Amino acid sequence: MNERKMPVVFSGHGSPMLALEQSNATKELKRIGDTITAQYEKPKAILSISAHWYTEGLFVQSSAEPEQVYDMYGFPQELYDFKYPAKGSAELTESVLNALGSRVSVNDEWGIDHGTWTVLCHMFPEADIPVVQLSVSSRLTSDQCLEIGRLLAPLRSEGFLIFASGNVVHNLGRVDWSNAGGSPMAEEFNADITNAVINHRYDEILRYDKHAYAYYAVPTPEHFLPLLYILGAAGDDKPLIFNNFCNLGAIAMTGFAFGLKDE
Ligand code: ZN
Repeated sequence: MNERKMPVVFSGHGSPMLALEQSNATKELKRIGDTITAQYEKPKAILSISAHWYTEGLFVQSSAEPEQVYDMYGFPQELYDFKYPAKGSAELTESVLNALGSRVSVNDEWGIDHGTWTVLCHMFPEADIPVVQLSVSSRLTSDQCLEIGRLLAPLRSEGFLIFASGNVVHNLGRVDWSNAGGSPMAEEFNADITNAVINHRYDEILRYDKHAYAYYAVPTPEHFLPLLYILGAAGDDKPLIFNNFCNLGAIAMTGFAFGLKDE
């Protein structure tokens, strides 16, 4: 086994149609997946913290064959036919339980949702790496989300990839399908958070709700909080930024990969 720690990754996901896209954004996702495998090794399993499993309490999955969840409505049939048949990993579930103790419990009522599969299908298209989801808990404060990430950090040395899928800016009510970029408020919030990540000004990120445009960029917290888990797991590692752009007016696709060598 490689002695170095596995990287940790936060990715934006945006529209579920991402799964069927071939674009610069999906090429970037593939590049990140390929780079992880090239610089380290194929992850033993992926712990995925998805904005779309937002729960009262913190849960982890244990199913050997988790169901793929099609938790989106009104999209073309092709998207509902799309398969990402990742298996579960008892070993990863066990490691999460050991790391988090009584803070987490097992729950298999959900499965692998579109926050996870629309991104991983580009990063690791073979779906041959097991995936276990960890929920985003509505009961945790920002600081507690960061702390959960810190407690999970040792999993990196066990060969597990800690991955989260959400959005720095996510306002469905303000989505504008005719805007290929971002509104001025989306762009500014995204730039401020990205700079805070780069410069390790985590207080600013933890207090994101104090930002002048927080009401616009983060009207509900579930797409933002996964970033905090990742910052906790990243420790002092430097981020490589990818897909740093907004789309649909009110979505930021920005991603951060920590612990990769910048080549
Ligand atoms: Zn989403």
